[in-house]
Amino acid sequence: MKRRDAVERTKDFFEVALGLDRADAAREASRCLQCKDKPCVKGCPVEIDIPSFIKLIKEGKPEEALEKIKEKNFLPAVCGRVCPQEDQCEAMCVLNKKKIPINIGALERYAADQESAVSRQPSAAGQNKDKKVAVVGSGPAGLTCAAELAKSGYTVTLFESLHVPGGVLSYGIPEFRLPKKIVLNEVAFIQSLGVELRTNVLIGKTYTLDDLFSDGYRAVFIASGAGLPNFLGIEGENAGGVYSANEFLTRVNLMKAYEFPKSATPVKVGKTVVVIGGGNVALDSARCARRLGVEVKLVYRRTESEMPARREEIDNAKEEGIDFMFLAAPKRILVDKNGFCSGLEVLKMELGPPDASGRPRPVIIENSEFTIDADTVIVAIGQSPNPLLAKNTKGLEVTARGTIKVDEHFMTSIKGVFAGGDIITGADTVISAMGAGKKAAKEIDKYLKGYDEI
Ligand code: FAD
Ligand code: SF4
Repeated sequence: MKRRDAVERTKDFFEVALGLDRADAAREASRCLQCKDKPCVKGCPVEIDIPSFIKLIKEGKPEEALEKIKEKNFLPAVCGRVCPQEDQCEAMCVLNKKKIPINIGALERYAADQESAVSRQPSAAGQNKDKKVAVVGSGPAGLTCAAELAKSGYTVTLFESLHVPGGVLSYGIPEFRLPKKIVLNEVAFIQSLGVELRTNVLIGKTYTLDDLFSDGYRAVFIASGAGLPNFLGIEGENAGGVYSANEFLTRVNLMKAYEFPKSATPVKVGKTVVVIGGGNVALDSARCARRLGVEVKLVYRRTESEMPARREEIDNAKEEGIDFMFLAAPKRILVDKNGFCSGLEVLKMELGPPDASGRPRPVIIENSEFTIDADTVIVAIGQSPNPLLAKNTKGLEVTARGTIKVDEHFMTSIKGVFAGGDIITGADTVISAMGAGKKAAKEIDKYLKGYDEI
């Protein structure tokens, strides 16, 4: 897929990847073998009929291709941009044998982007309209569950604590990877199915789960995500100029700090930024910082082969001039006399035998400390489940990791309360959260069909 020039794109926040044109899409679609047993579909957590939509693109019918995708996936323009297809549908494509699988993600994006306006689709006949369901959190899990339930005719309210919907799609993933108007367009489509969206409502504070049941909701789906940043626990971490990736990305993406003072929220970065981590969140932080006009180093304790970030984004970051420092781990943050971060003391690492994740364990090389300058340090070493709702809800059981416990039907320890997405798995992917939202909606439907007998 064509991308904007690396130097040009680091001067703004506009989208990097340009998408396929009609001829490229038709050419790519023509390569598909239309396999009878559809191995690619087995790699898709929401089971999109991939060969069928590709065939429609080949026949020059992108809008029908989009309708086909939307039978299973309510966020196609999002998924076409950020899903790790290389590990899912594309990994299952038979053309891997020839080393060039079909670029399913690019074709999904192409079909989704043909939609000139939000298409309207009536919700199913109102046979379930008298049954109200509350969905907590409007990230991919909540949006998918809400849409599926609305399609089945339920009256659905989607509660979101922030002032805009989308979860990580809005506050985490940057504009240059996922334009916010695309997220809002997909949300508008879900609202057009009849889902009521209520922002600025923190369930567990504004209303408790008991309040929701008293208000006539018969089931609740919790999709509150994993938005609690993890910290390193090292000296100097409380200094000025040290951000969690979560705070940094929220300032930049959600509050548009890059437009300050036109926007209300500033972000102070100085001249040198060091990002700690090797996943998508670390790369997004580094690439946002680069667009604020500063030098950026990324410190990662393993090597490039072990980085959990998407390959495509690693390549983009390199092109944009991010300086990768591998086999290095932070020991302490250096603090100046005003209490601001001035640098980072780093230890050299080497790779040892595999750890529980199956990747080689990073091992410290003793007495290998060295320092690097940093006006800003961004800590991007993972997120944990949001704890507030579980803490404020009696009887809602959580695991030692803070994820909400569910049974095989996505039901929590409280009858009628279901959960899915990052809040039950820990930080994962958009498509796995959507898959959970979809499966949970089926379980909620079954539960509510038997409601009168309960
Ligand atoms: P979230 O998206 O976290 O949404 C949860 C929502 O619930 C939030 O809007 C939150 O405000 C709201 N909420 C929380 N508590 C309450 C409450 N008590 N009351 C009301 N609302 C509440 N995945 C990919 O597949 N590809 C990528 O490229 C990718 N990049 C990423 C980049 C970043 C910076 C981050 C942070 C994550 C990335 N991920 C990526 C992971 C992916 O975004 C998440 O796995 C996914 O968004 C999880 O969806 P979710 O619906 O479970 O939760
Ligand atoms: Fe087409 Fe690959 Fe799916 Fe076969 S496995 S139908 S070639 S996308």
